[in-house]
Amino acid sequence: MKIAADLDLCQGHAVCAAEAPDVFTVPNRGKVEILDSEPGPETRAAVTNAIRYCPTQALSIVDGTEH
Ligand code: SF4
Repeated sequence: MKIAADLDLCQGHAVCAAEAPDVFTVPNRGKVEILDSEPGPETRAAVTNAIRYCPTQALSIVDGTEH
């Protein structure tokens, strides 16, 4: 699992950081920073929620190779 963030779309709502604080952080009035772009499987549920609930759909998983 590898995560990408489209900073052109990110508006800093920090939903992602609330869902998966080990993976995403968002500075005040800033844009998302990925702390761990290749998190382990134990974070998959949190990352999936972060992607789902991001209001601007700025986040994505870029490889589908993990089974
Ligand atoms: S939830 Fe989406 S828009 Fe908000 S900080 Fe995270 S990536 Fe950016």
